[in-house]
Amino acid sequence: MKERGLLIVLSGPSGVGKGTVRKALFSQEDIELHYSISATTRSPREGEVNGVDYFFKSHEEFEHMIEHKKLLEWAEYVGNYYGTPIDYVEQSLSEGRDVFLEIEVQGALQVKEAFPEGLFIFLAPPSLTELKSRIIGRGTESEDLINNRMKVAKEEIEMMDAYDYVVENDQVDRACDRIKAIVTAEHCRRDRV
Ligand code: 5GP
Repeated sequence: MKERGLLIVLSGPSGVGKGTVRKALFSQEDIELHYSISATTRSPREGEVNGVDYFFKSHEEFEHMIEHKKLLEWAEYVGNYYGTPIDYVEQSLSEGRDVFLEIEVQGALQVKEAFPEGLFIFLAPPSLTELKSRIIGRGTESEDLINNRMKVAKEEIEMMDAYDYVVENDQVDRACDRIKAIVTAEHCRRDRV
């Protein structure tokens, strides 16, 4: 029987470039991942296609999916619902395919509850790790500034700690290379004969 596929979750703070990295990753031929198309209530942007970029739903349809447990996770983000249809994920994993989710942080934490065996990758802005060590290591800036930064950084760091890996998005192609290396390494670690 074929091994179960790997569930890969890419998440991270808003604006970090998750979508850009995901698209770059899927344009590469040396990795085979299956993208889980999300459902959303937001309107399609120019050029977006239903069933390719998203499954575009009305609020009623989305709430129906929630009620009937058709979503692995869902979250409200800037006034719209976003969620991962569960059937595609379950079926692909059971058929041995690696499934890739690109979702925001609240949703990723829900997936972790349901699939603790998933591979959780946090995409971080390049300045965050620097900020983290600076705040933790020193504290020579004004108190207000430190407090503010600590607050933001703490939230981010707390989220980061729930992930298996943190990938800095300093350059899109480098971030892709790191993600590919992580996926390959995870397969070597898990798929033991
Ligand atoms: P956008 O509207 O720019 O396409 O996406 C907004 C945010 O929603 C992004 O952070 C994206 O990663 C996130 N997102 C997309 N699909 C899902 C999903 O199925 N679940 C969750 N929780 N977030 C999603």
